Order: sequence, then structure tokens, then C-alpha cells
Amino acid sequence: MKELKLEVILSTEKKQKPSFDHLEFGKYFTDHMFIWNYTEGKGWHDPRIVPYQPITLDPAATVFHYGQTVFEGLKAYMTKDEQILLFRPDENFKRFNRSNDRLVMPELDEEGALSALKQLIQIERDWIPTAEGTSLYIRPFMIATEAFLGVHPAKTYQFMIILSPVGAYYKEGINPVKIAVESEYVRAVAGGTGNAKTAGNYAASLKAGEIASENGYSQVLWLDGKENQYIEEVGSMNVFFKINGEVITPALNGSILEGITRKSVIELLNYMNIPIVERKISIHEIQQAYQDGVLEEAFGSGTAAVISPIGELLWKNEKMVINNGEIGSVSKQVYDTLTGIQNGIKEDPFGWAVRV
Ligand code: PMP
Repeated sequence: MKELKLEVILSTEKKQKPSFDHLEFGKYFTDHMFIWNYTEGKGWHDPRIVPYQPITLDPAATVFHYGQTVFEGLKAYMTKDEQILLFRPDENFKRFNRSNDRLVMPELDEEGALSALKQLIQIERDWIPTAEGTSLYIRPFMIATEAFLGVHPAKTYQFMIILSPVGAYYKEGINPVKIAVESEYVRAVAGGTGNAKTAGNYAASLKAGEIASENGYSQVLWLDGKENQYIEEVGSMNVFFKINGEVITPALNGSILEGITRKSVIELLNYMNIPIVERKISIHEIQQAYQDGVLEEAFGSGTAAVISPIGELLWKNEKMVINNGEIGSVSKQVYDTLTGIQNGIKEDPFGWAVRV
């Protein structure tokens, strides 16, 4: 892989590290960050690793007004023999560019960005927690920085990477979650920006998430914005159902984010010879399967939790308890295999783990 040549300015004062036994998600940030500027006509310039610091922007910068911004999320894991592993990072940078294209933002040099990320992680090695389930969360993002209030794509951008040590998602074993099916609000519509990882989708999702949480549900199950019946995603995860021995996940349709964990689950199930199909699936079909006693498992998939089993689904007034509210065997196998590959404990026949 070609190494990106960049300037490195190391911080003279190191931060006091938080206790790695009590890490929350996305609360602490490492000593350094990566910055890369883009100017129309000039291209990408001045890649640099600098001390983690606030950024100064003109109040008229496009990102503040029209949300021209894209982000990614992935993790670095420290193995028992002190190797640092990333999980399919090339897929994250490919998706970054698909999102950029949708938001009319400049294409990123994927190899250059991955090289910068590896150099940054090497500098921040001591920030990678080592206990089981912990990792270094990586947040690459790009913002439109041009000061201009017209609604058009900006001419200047900034790409950055920040890092945050995060604790184990499951501290006391995997706990299935309660999910409320959302019938009023939608997250995204086909033709919109649902399949791009951009801020607006997340802003649009907050209201329904708040209401669900007030009612004791941890996330919402999103339905399609047109017919309000086809299943899209769960919270900020993709979703899988096991019905009568077959695993089903909603087919990509433009409003669903193409999750890297989703892709890996599908490839893994195929490898394990467990039937898996990608197709449209409605909430009515789920309800029918539940009533027929063949809704065997349901789980979300995403970088944060890897696999998040669904123990209860609330749809209108019906509470559907899945697998007695316990984790199912397919969910468990997929979770163990993926996390094993990520941590370097399990054999990786796919070549998904990438050394830093
Ligand atoms: N859907 C949404 C809306 C998300 O934000 C995420 C997290 N990136 C996912 C699905 C899962 O994607 P991944 O498996 O790549 O983390």
C-alpha cells in the first residue's frame, strides 16, 4: 500500500488518559487528529497529523447551514499479541466516497486516507484499550468549509479523523433489546440520502428515538417512507430476521445504509451454509410469522454492537416476544465469529482483519 506523505506535529502536552475500565462511547478523544484540506482547482493538500484541537470555521460555512457533510465509523482492536487490527477499513472508505458522491463532495483518495489513519493509530497506540470487547473507535469525517450562503456545493472542504477509546458494548453478556416499530416518523426515503452516511439522516432520526426511549424502548424499527410497511433498519443498525429456518434482511433500496457488518453477516451466513436472503419484508409478514410461531430470531447489525439481538418488538398494540427474549443460536454464532475475527482470536478465512 502506498504511504501518504504527511506532516506530523506532535503534542507537547499529553492528556491524562481516562480509566479504561469505565469508558463510555465517544466521550474521550486521543492526543492527535488528522486533517486534510481540499480546494477546488487545487485538489487535496496539506495532509497533517496535529494535536487534537478545536477547529475554527467561518459562521457562513456550508456545513452549518445546508449540512454538506459525510462521516464514517469503524474500530481498531488490540490483539492479545499486541497487533492492531482494523475490520474491513477499505469498505468504510469506499462507502465514504459513495456518500461523498451523493452529497456532491470531492472524492477522497481511499488509499491515502487509510494510510493516514494507520499513521495516526500508530502514534496513538497507547490509547487502544486492551480488555475484551473494548476498542479504539475511529471517526473519519468531511465538512464543507466555504463561507457562502447560496445553496450550492462548496468549493472548499476539510477531511479529518479523530479517535476515541470505547468500552465494551456488552458489559454483562449480550442483552436482547426492546424495539418499538415506528409508524409516524421516517428516517429516510428512497431517492433521498438514506444510503449515505450524512448528518441529516441522524438529525431526522432523533425525535422518534426520544419518544421510544421515553416509553422504555431502546430503539425504533424504521419502516419505508412511501408505503409505511416495509422494514428498513433498526436504530442505526441493519436488521435481520430468522423465520422458519431462513434468515431474511431487507434488500438495499436506496434508503437503507449499506452496513459493512450487514455485508459481513450475509457473507458469513453463506459460508456457514445457513440460508440467507435479501428481499423486501413487511411488518405484516413479521407479525404473521410471530402469530404462526415461526419468528425464531431477530437482530440488528452494526459497528458499535456488532450484533444486537431483539428480544421484543412492539407494533401498534402487539408485543412480540422473540425467542423468549433471549439471544438465538444464529445471532450468537455470528456474534462470536465476527468479534473473534476482529480481535484476532478466530481464524479469518475472508481476510477481513487488516493489520495497522
Ligand atoms: N445503518 C445506519 C443508519 C448506521 O448509521 C449504521 C452504522 N454505520 C449501520 C446501519 C451499520 O453499518 P456498519 O455495519 O457499517 O456499522
